[in-house]
Amino acid sequence: MKDSFRSMLERRANDLSVRLLKKSELGELSDFQHGDVVDRTPVDRDLALELSAKIRNEIKACLQALERLDAGTYGICLVCGEQIPEKRLRVLPFAAKCVECESLSAHAISGQYAPVRLSA
Ligand SMILES: [Zn+2]
Repeated sequence: MKDSFRSMLERRANDLSVRLLKKSELGELSDFQHGDVVDRTPVDRDLALELSAKIRNEIKACLQALERLDAGTYGICLVCGEQIPEKRLRVLPFAAKCVECESLSAHAISGQYAPVRLSA
């Protein structure tokens, strides 16, 4: 089972790197084509930057997950130490936290202190 996650992660990191590469090539190309239409490029550029930052983060997450596989700590939540359900790992093979800890840190990062939900 760990081997299948390893190949999933390797493939994913690879695919993402290819996407990142293509994206930067496309970016250069469109800059060239819209050379004098300066007004509308900043938004596109911001979006492209945001997207490539996301892709880069995901590549990093994949590589870190591969390191955890090597270290034997893969699939264990970094925050609470609980086993991350295999169902979650199949969807997000690079997940480093369980759903609860992930949603907690997502709120912390965005700075939005949502009212505590007791339903979970
Ligand atoms: Zn957790």
